[in-house]
Amino acid sequence: MSRKFRTLAIVITIIFMATMLSASISAYEIMPSSKDSIIPPDERVYIDDSSRNEYPYISLAYLTFWYDCVDENGNQCGSRGTGFFITDKSILTAAHNFSCAKANHKDTSKVVRIDIGIVAKVSGYTQTYTVTSSTANMYIPAAYSADKKNYDYACIHLTAGSLAAPVLTLYNAPESELEASNLICMGYDPLTPPNNEPFVKQNPYLYKGVGKSTRLNEHIIYYNIDTDRGQSGSPVMIMKDGKYQVVAIHTSGTGEDNKGESNSGVRITQAVINDLLMRGFYQQ
Ligand SMILES: [Zn+2]
Repeated sequence: MSRKFRTLAIVITIIFMATMLSASISAYEIMPSSKDSIIPPDERVYIDDSSRNEYPYISLAYLTFWYDCVDENGNQCGSRGTGFFITDKSILTAAHNFSCAKANHKDTSKVVRIDIGIVAKVSGYTQTYTVTSSTANMYIPAAYSADKKNYDYACIHLTAGSLAAPVLTLYNAPESELEASNLICMGYDPLTPPNNEPFVKQNPYLYKGVGKSTRLNEHIIYYNIDTDRGQSGSPVMIMKDGKYQVVAIHTSGTGEDNKGESNSGVRITQAVINDLLMRGFYQQ
């Protein structure tokens, strides 16, 4: 096989608590964990394969979570989300991605697969750029258990393997700057092909949306950016000094604001940055 036809997909398989994945899972059983929403019309821009290995898209990760619980059809539960590298070893995402969202299912994910760059659309793609890892640290703030809305962030810290590409920078933006700036959210949507193309199983679709803040408080920023299911954990960014700066982690779809008008995310406050710095998951 010619090397030039191989993909640049990176796959990192992380096994938490030494739990082995016992069965393969069809993509149809793994639903996105979020309730994220389009605010009609869908104004997101599709990012095709030609750009996915370039910054900043290469800094994004398509995350697949498996849980120990089983659905009504007897299949192992799982979900999809998005994350992003903040160091070459640390991926920030939404904490709720780690829990099965089905009613009365409370299992926490012990296995996460991380795909970066051009993700294999069909089985048979050869992964030439592969980072392998057998273990990783998973961090969810203790405050999340008491307040799932305000502390919905989590970090996967690789103990082996790393991203050989630029990473995204965190920025505790003043409220005036958040209110004035264009906000950009990029993430993987596993269910919505662009341009009415036919749905392809196991093909995550990468989208970028742009919008404005509609309101904010100490922890949460609301915005009119289109997002969809699977984008939980996506970075919400502004452009500052010509660079992408992450100001929030996308967590919630419309309805969370009780008006059905805004999507929202957890702000990157100084407390969040300090928390990640203290644990060695981030560097400045
Ligand atoms: Zn479940």
